[in-house]
Amino acid sequence: MKIISVIGKKDTGKTTLVRKIIEGLRSRGYKVAGLKHAHVYFDFRDKDTGKYRESGAEIVAGLGKETFILLDKELKPEYLIYLISFIQNPDFLVIEGFKTWKFANISTSPEVKNKFTIATVDENFEIEELLDLIEERSYGLLLNLNCGKCGFDTCEEFAIAKIKGEDVECKSQPKDAMLIVDDVPVPLNPFVQKIIASTITGMIKSLKMEKSKINNIKLFIKNLE
Ligand code: SF4
Repeated sequence: MKIISVIGKKDTGKTTLVRKIIEGLRSRGYKVAGLKHAHVYFDFRDKDTGKYRESGAEIVAGLGKETFILLDKELKPEYLIYLISFIQNPDFLVIEGFKTWKFANISTSPEVKNKFTIATVDENFEIEELLDLIEERSYGLLLNLNCGKCGFDTCEEFAIAKIKGEDVECKSQPKDAMLIVDDVPVPLNPFVQKIIASTITGMIKSLKMEKSKINNIKLFIKNLE
């Protein structure tokens, strides 16, 4: 899953741009997820679920034609991004905000940009050109594994090369297995991912489940002594 974020000052058209990017990527055939970063409470107060929360529920969920889960705490961004990628496996995650994170980003304000900015736009942006840039220069979540398999010593060096348009790829994105310990994703190199995936799959198969019917396995371990 590649990530693109939209950053910029308040009221500079970030949400409009996010919507255009989502629509454009969808029209190019991609599965797309969206994530908004805000320092506010999300407003469910008038709804039944908001009332449950007022009554003290620490987690509130709604299940119908759509599903949502509302927690009364801010998750670590990398944990949430891992969950999104694991639950839906989208091709792209479009984020509004997170201007200090090392995501490829597009800025709607010339004064708000960093070394991961691939473009700065005003209201006259050409969406197809932006989509081309996003396809070419965005990349997945970097966990500072610094394994060097992409040809760079550090993940940040890789990201900067990618932002500049070099034809490079991270070789250690989570593919076969993900590990999250105490809400923090743990970088695993591809070899370790394969070992974990094949070991757990072998154990599940020994429970007499047919491997052909298994698409993925989620294993949660808690209450460790
Ligand atoms: S291959 Fe990926 S994880 Fe390894 S250094 Fe390059 S960017 Fe970082």
